[in-house]
Amino acid sequence: MTDIDKPINFIQQIINADLESGRVTDVVTRFPPEPNGYLHIGHAKSICLNFGLASQYNGQCNLRFDDTNPEKEDQAFVDAIIKDVRWLGYDWQGEPCYASNYFDQLYLWAVTLIKENRAYVCELDAQQMREFRGTLTEAGVNSPFRDRPAEESLALLEKMRIGLADEGSMTLRAKIDMASANINLRDPVLYRIKKMAHQRTGDKWNIYPSYDFAHGQEDAIEGVTHSICTLEFAANRPLYEWFTANLPLPSIPRQYEFGRLKLNYTITSKRKLKQLVDEKHVSGWDDPRMPTISGLRRRGVSARSIRNFCDSLAVAKTDGIVDVAQFEHFVRDDLNISAKRAMCVLKPLLVTLTNFSGQEQVKIEAKNHPNRDDMGSRVINFSEQFYIDQADFSEDTSLSRKKFKRLVIGDYVRLRSAFIVRADDVVKNAAGDIVEVIASLVPNTVGQDAPEGIKARGVIHWVDAVSAVDCAVNIYDRLFNQADPDQGDQHFLEHLNPDSLKVVTGCKAEAILEGSIAGDHYQFEREGYFTRDTSDAASPVFNCTIGLRDNWKA
Ligand code: ATP
Ligand code: MG
Repeated sequence: MTDIDKPINFIQQIINADLESGRVTDVVTRFPPEPNGYLHIGHAKSICLNFGLASQYNGQCNLRFDDTNPEKEDQAFVDAIIKDVRWLGYDWQGEPCYASNYFDQLYLWAVTLIKENRAYVCELDAQQMREFRGTLTEAGVNSPFRDRPAEESLALLEKMRIGLADEGSMTLRAKIDMASANINLRDPVLYRIKKMAHQRTGDKWNIYPSYDFAHGQEDAIEGVTHSICTLEFAANRPLYEWFTANLPLPSIPRQYEFGRLKLNYTITSKRKLKQLVDEKHVSGWDDPRMPTISGLRRRGVSARSIRNFCDSLAVAKTDGIVDVAQFEHFVRDDLNISAKRAMCVLKPLLVTLTNFSGQEQVKIEAKNHPNRDDMGSRVINFSEQFYIDQADFSEDTSLSRKKFKRLVIGDYVRLRSAFIVRADDVVKNAAGDIVEVIASLVPNTVGQDAPEGIKARGVIHWVDAVSAVDCAVNIYDRLFNQADPDQGDQHFLEHLNPDSLKVVTGCKAEAILEGSIAGDHYQFEREGYFTRDTSDAASPVFNCTIGLRDNWKA
């Protein structure tokens, strides 16, 4: 589907109407991560949507850190998020924005609310606060501190701010409606005491604003016109609007909610991903099995395929579970077009030619992509010995040509981009395993049809023994062996797939792969798509991004 055919989503409809009515003249969005973990594939949907809308409407999208809770946040997460958003292909004007840039202003607005009798300092403890809040079916009860004079609240807020009140002893609450059907409006907390240094503001604050008090006000300060968040915030919207109605904000943003991206076999919760990291179920946030942006990058997934996938998703007002195979389809689709071809033998079996002419090495020219001349070609050595995959050879001469299109004793196979060869004999070790195949080549068959009477069973990949690079390969399976690891009361850790990583050592790669770097994408012919791992192991390690077959039907 081209962009022109694509029906516009409900947010684009809203924006179009807003531009038409003049409610807004420029579109400003934001992507507001909390720096308490790494970004995952779910965030990518929000990034592509927010930055995508800004670009479509010639507007602006801010990267804004919602850093209101120093307890869980870290500069390392800020740095990783910046790197990931950039890598996905997006940029923003100037420095990233931070909620913490607005702490002074937020505090002044809190004071305004108190002065206007719309907020008060409450000294109920957490337990009492829960009891007074009521339930979905029962109204809450007013706090005994609700009607205290504004001066008293102002003095207490100041005490909270400068660190003279204990954590948990008081909060600042909005005075809205303890009987509201929407629990978010039952005098929500605006500030809580946290005597904790903040990664950006240091020891300046002993109180930190709640998400609800911060978010919409940050939007207003930045002139955000369309503040797009996920559905679980729908019930917070009336509160968002209460602030825009009751504070002298420089602009009036509006909040819209869309469905979160959920993928089967995948977890998209930072909290749970953090647990996987902290408890060492994976090697880190960028473990190639993780659905994090950094993990996907290390695995060899291209930024373009993530963008293409996100663009294909419905922006809807309901949550839906997307089949991870749909994501894989986009990964494969992009790599099929963009990855260079190369050869790597995972389970090597040595083949020795008995009729190699002795002209030392023959240079073979191989195209880097079967249908893209712009990707050029490379020269590979061909010599007396080379490796093929153990699975590509059989002694069983009764195997039909149709069933086994590989090398069989007495029969022919074509080596990709090179000669046709025939297997003549095998060498076995004491245990009876085949350790070498003795073969002969059919002269003049590079780039040429087989001579009369000779028919290759198929085409197999190979790696020249003289110039081969020793390497290891990581093959991944799903991290979870259940489609919904995250559902119900079952714990996601119980569904970890014990076989999600298979390390294959002793592989032989074509010489060109020695100089590859992480982020170069290759199709190892007949094996799958691979990229160099970031590890600095003595010999190269390649990560299998994905296999060649796609079973997902659009
Ligand atoms: P998590 O539950 O993983 O911690 P979060 O919503 O708390 O996610 P934030 O850092 O607050 O994480 O998210 C930044 C932005 O990304 C928010 O606007 C949020 O709504 C959006 N977002 C997070 N997860 C998803 C998802 N799975 N699909 C779409 N958008 C998401
Ligand atoms: Mg959040």
